[in-house]
Amino acid sequence: MKFSIVSRGDERSQNLTESIIAYLEGFSLIYDEKEPELVISVGGDGTFLEAFHRYVHRLSETAFIGIHTGHLGFYADWTPDELEKLVIEIAKTPYQIVEYPLLEVIICQRGNEEGERVLALNEATIKTAEGSVVFDIDINGEHFETFRGDGLCISTPTGSTAYNKALGGAIIHPSLDAIQVTEMASINNRVFRTIGSPLILPKHHTCVLKPGINSSFLIARDHSTDTYQDVISIQCRVAKEKIRFARYRPLTFWNRVKESFVSASDK
Ligand code: NAD
Repeated sequence: MKFSIVSRGDERSQNLTESIIAYLEGFSLIYDEKEPELVISVGGDGTFLEAFHRYVHRLSETAFIGIHTGHLGFYADWTPDELEKLVIEIAKTPYQIVEYPLLEVIICQRGNEEGERVLALNEATIKTAEGSVVFDIDINGEHFETFRGDGLCISTPTGSTAYNKALGGAIIHPSLDAIQVTEMASINNRVFRTIGSPLILPKHHTCVLKPGINSSFLIARDHSTDTYQDVISIQCRVAKEKIRFARYRPLTFWNRVKESFVSASDK
C-alpha cells in the first residue's frame, strides 16, 4: 500500500513523521506523495484540513487518518502514544472506510459565469470587507429571504462542531447527507428580517446567494480565505464526493463530540 504524510512541520510532528515512515517502510509499505492510498496527517485539525485539500483531486482513491501532536483534535484523533499500535494496524489490518459528506460551493463571477467549484470539509464562510453583506437567498430556485449581516457559514456535518457550533448551529451526525446554513450577526429590526435560525438542507437542495449591494467577498473554505470580485452568485449544496476516513477502531461521532466538548472518557 502507498501512503503519504502531511505534517504540521513543528519539531514534534516532524519527529513523529520520520518514525511513521521508518516503521511503515519496515513493513514494506511505500511512501508516495503523488498517489497515496492512505494519507496520515500529523499535527492538529488544521493539518488535517491541509491534507484534505492537498489530495482533494483524488478523494475516491484516498483514505485519511489524523494523529494529533497538540490537543485532541476532531479529525486528528489518534495520540502519539498510540503510534506503534496504529502502525501495526495500518500494516497488518485492512481498514474499514467511513465516508462523510462534503460541501460544494460554486462561485460565479462576471467573466467566469460557469463559476469556480470548491469543496469544503468543514465549511465555507462568506463575508465582505465592505460593511454588511446583503444577499438574496434562494432555496431550490425560490426566494427565501434577504439577508443582511456579517456573513453566512455553510457547514458540513463534520464541520458542524467547528465554526458552525460557535455560531449556535446544531451538531449534525455525519451519516446525514446535509449542509447547514448559519447566520453571522444578522440585522433584524422593523425594516430587515431574516429567519434567525440555522437551516439544514438535505442532499439535492441548493441554496443560492445573490449579492445585493456588495461586489467583493471574502470566501473562506475551511482554513483558507480568498477574495472574489464581481460575484454574481454563490451556489451551495451537498457535494457528490465524500471524504473517506480509514477506521482502525470504533470511535463513534457522539463519543468524539463528548470527548471534545463535554468531558474526557470515563473509561
Ligand atoms: P485554528 O487554528 O483557528 O483552529 C480552530 C479550532 O477549530 C481548533 O481548535 C481546531 O481543532 C478546531 N476545529 C477544526 N475543525 C473542527 C471540527 N470539524 N470540529 C471541531 N473542532 C474543529 O484554525 P485551523 O486549525 O486552521 O482550522 C480552521 C477551522 O477553524 C475552520 O474550518 C473553522 O471551522 C474554524 N474556525 C472556528 C471559529 C470559531 O469557532 N469561532 C472561527 C474561525 C475558524
